[in-house]
Amino acid sequence: MHDDRVLVEKRIERELWQRILPQLYRRRVPLTIDAWDVPGEPVSYAHAAAQEYRPFAVGERWGRPWGTTWFRLSGEVPDGWAGVGLEAVIDLGWGMRGPGFLAEGLVWLDGTPLQGVHPRRTAVPLPQLATGPLSLLVEAAANPALPQSFRPTPLGSLDTAGDAPLYRVAMADLAVLDHDVYHLCLDVEVLVGVMQGLPLDEPRRQRLLRQLEDAFDAIDMGDVTGTAHRARRLLQPALELPARSSSMRVIGVGHAHIDSAWLWPIRETVRKCARTFASAVRLMDDDPEYRFVCSQAVQYAWMEERYPALFARIAEKVQTGQFVPVGGMWVEADMNLPSGESLVRQLVHGQRYFESRFGIRCKEVWIPDVFGYPASMPQVYAAAGCDRFVTQKLSWNKQNRFPHNTFWWEGLDGTRVLTHFPPVDTYNAEVTGEEMAFSQRNFREHGWSDWALMPYGHGNGGGGPTREMVQRAHRMRDLDGTPRLQLGTSDEFFDHVEAELAAGAVAPVWSGELYFEMHRGTLTSQIETKVGNRRCERLLREAELWWAAGGMVPPEVADELRGLWNDVLLQQFHDIIPGSSIAWVHDDAEREHARIAARLEELIAAAFARMGVAGVDGDDWVVANAATRQRTEVVSGPDGLPVIVQVPGSGFFPLDQERVGYDRVVTTERSMANGQLAVSWDLEGTITSIIDVARGRELLPPRRSVTIELAPDHPVEYDAWDLESWTTGLGEPISGDAEISWLERSPLRARLQVRRTVGAASTMTVVYTLRAESARLDLEFDIDWHESEQLLSLMVPLDVRTSEAVCDIQFGHVRRPTHPSSPWDAAKFEVCAHRFVDLAEPQFGVAVLNDGRYGHGLFDGGVRVSLLRAARFPDPDADQGRHRVTISILPHGAGLHDVLHEAELLNVPVRFVRGTLDWWPGAVVEIDQPGVQLSAVKRADDASGDLIVRLFEACGDRTQVSVRLPVPVRDATRCNALEEPEQVIDVADGFVSISLRPFELVTLRLRT
Ligand SMILES: [Zn+2]
Repeated sequence: MHDDRVLVEKRIERELWQRILPQLYRRRVPLTIDAWDVPGEPVSYAHAAAQEYRPFAVGERWGRPWGTTWFRLSGEVPDGWAGVGLEAVIDLGWGMRGPGFLAEGLVWLDGTPLQGVHPRRTAVPLPQLATGPLSLLVEAAANPALPQSFRPTPLGSLDTAGDAPLYRVAMADLAVLDHDVYHLCLDVEVLVGVMQGLPLDEPRRQRLLRQLEDAFDAIDMGDVTGTAHRARRLLQPALELPARSSSMRVIGVGHAHIDSAWLWPIRETVRKCARTFASAVRLMDDDPEYRFVCSQAVQYAWMEERYPALFARIAEKVQTGQFVPVGGMWVEADMNLPSGESLVRQLVHGQRYFESRFGIRCKEVWIPDVFGYPASMPQVYAAAGCDRFVTQKLSWNKQNRFPHNTFWWEGLDGTRVLTHFPPVDTYNAEVTGEEMAFSQRNFREHGWSDWALMPYGHGNGGGGPTREMVQRAHRMRDLDGTPRLQLGTSDEFFDHVEAELAAGAVAPVWSGELYFEMHRGTLTSQIETKVGNRRCERLLREAELWWAAGGMVPPEVADELRGLWNDVLLQQFHDIIPGSSIAWVHDDAEREHARIAARLEELIAAAFARMGVAGVDGDDWVVANAATRQRTEVVSGPDGLPVIVQVPGSGFFPLDQERVGYDRVVTTERSMANGQLAVSWDLEGTITSIIDVARGRELLPPRRSVTIELAPDHPVEYDAWDLESWTTGLGEPISGDAEISWLERSPLRARLQVRRTVGAASTMTVVYTLRAESARLDLEFDIDWHESEQLLSLMVPLDVRTSEAVCDIQFGHVRRPTHPSSPWDAAKFEVCAHRFVDLAEPQFGVAVLNDGRYGHGLFDGGVRVSLLRAARFPDPDADQGRHRVTISILPHGAGLHDVLHEAELLNVPVRFVRGTLDWWPGAVVEIDQPGVQLSAVKRADDASGDLIVRLFEACGDRTQVSVRLPVPVRDATRCNALEEPEQVIDVADGFVSISLRPFELVTLRLRT
């Protein structure tokens, strides 16, 4: 019997594919093809339509890599063909390959985008056409199929991709779809899928096999068209058997995960969106039950600007509830690398866009494809009005299986968001019986919940859901043997779960970060994209602060700042800032960051000029401090020489050059010391001792030194993405001859330069810097990097005993294990930290700070900082060239206050402005708690002139903090991140005093 089953299943499959599917069209005639190749980058429809087209034939080659060819398809609709079932059938040369990573086309009719064509969407229904002449334009994009084998490829850059045509047009026909054959194929696909998802001994499975067999017996393979209806009639009872009342409920949400850049540049994503969204709204016309959820406000903004007619159609479908904005974010951003303020703005800018265009505020964050989720995110989501969260990426974990599908995710400050990982374990489901069976098998919450989500549709230019997926979904609405599948939205899903909770069900809780056990290399790959982002984040903070300090921000400046924020937010997309895109994308990102930074410097200078601080005639120097609080430090002055600055708060202060009494730096040939720190090195320039003088402790373990290591870095599959657990163990310290020289030996500052070769072709200069009045030792790296598939690390061994390290993250810190005791601990062999990691005993600790790195390894007895990688896919030249970064070593006493302070000083340098300071604003904002930090100081988005101050408790303490401005505060409210008042605060004596929970994030609106 067993053999019979296998045989019958094989028969069904072969006859379906080889005999029935080829009969899908009753009649066909070829269309006439003419072509025009765009000479350079893509052009508008109007431009393309006005060109001279040349004759073109099926079988001809087209498409240099990244080129565009416009095809004009024309013909005459024969008598009697018009009506339902009339379609253009187009194959640009895809062969058997899947959608999303190949050529794609946008079909235009009379100047309007009609729909996309892809390997799984070759049909363009034309029901509205009467008999007569037909003319379509197809804007065909020759996007190259980048190798999925992760081999280095020249195709990722226009400079190296060449111009050999990639594709051959395989078909352009006018045809009439056979209704019976089409629906028979769908009936059979669904029933076979359901059958194969059931256990072998299940009666329904055995009955289905017999029913399918009977139906196939009824088809005359010589006359499929004439006999398909007989088979359909025989299958009807099998399709009408309702689901069992206990069966699980799945909500299918149409979706197209479109990476805003990845194996294609942003300019191509704009067109991918047009193709995908045009197809989506067409499908909505045909099927009122169809729902399509779509994230990333920037993608809507592109349509609004570039495809206004399509945008109007989208807006219409948003109003009918079929096209559903989700996620509330500007892009589906990476969550590890952007600053806390950036992630707030991702949500604020996304929510504001959706609200202004469609009157919609999203309740959920939707980032199914992002590489890990920090512990501070629940409160960020909540602050932007989102108390629900959808992702599925942790299903890719390499080491441990995540234990929940629907749960409360509890953040650092205790905020909880209702979270769902769709049990289908993908955001690109295709609505098959197998996927439905898997969802049911894989779902961890059967004990208390009936509901799950299934995002379906081809992503990344694959064009989203197809009509076949929707048809299959309808057949599984209420079908025995499979979960009940209804088309809907993520809102409906969460409403159902919330109803279950309201009725007494209890959801599990996961507290802390959602660490992704994969793609750890994205903390380091394409480091200049990350460094550029960090620079822009700082300059945005400064520009907002200095403009706010000067009073009302002129509308054109407010608009420009908002625009620059949007440009930075776009580059935080989850394949750009992680470094996992082609060369083109990273070249664009670095150019964008440079442009944005230059413009922000101009805006900052303009803000100073407006306040009269940078007077044209002024010849005094003024110090501007954008950090949270006062600082006393030695920096390079306006003339490059070291100078002590002493500023009492954030704001402008005259440069004090008169200071005489200070803690001087003393040097010998092999050491430098001040009253706080003594550092010595060996003949090769390797640091062999760092002594905390005040506390009398050597930082390094006996006979250990601070070293640089090089390790072969060969991920098993995803080169730019992954760092394997064994890689760092293969590292060898770099040793040998070094050129050692003093750059500076003054009582204010000592700087020793050590220069050596690294690996096969690279050089590295490190400058050890110790300043008066500072316990911080800076290691300033300048590396000319020309290695291939190597990891460069800084190893800082520490004589500190602790089982947990503290890692700086957005709006707080997390504690992570320094040991591989459990599989969950062991998986965290490379972790993200922003400005510092800290290893501490109760009364003594050592922090390793940075101004531009994220990947760290933590172990009992030290810290490893990932400095550079050199992956070869998808960008074969990733990370080649010059890199600068400062890593600092800072011993400290109990608590984190010193660490937070120094981390801010390292990352927010003071500015010198030449000008006459006849105006004395004092501190822009003054905060009296060292554990509380400023995230943003800005004027309110609503142009009211109110001051917005966003701050957070960074140490995990409960605290009372007062916030003062240079002038008395009259009114104060606590707001959400969207700057909407939530709670009035009493103002006494012209300042505000509020209590903060551990790690609480607060946005204040202040009126003076
Ligand atoms: Zn993605």
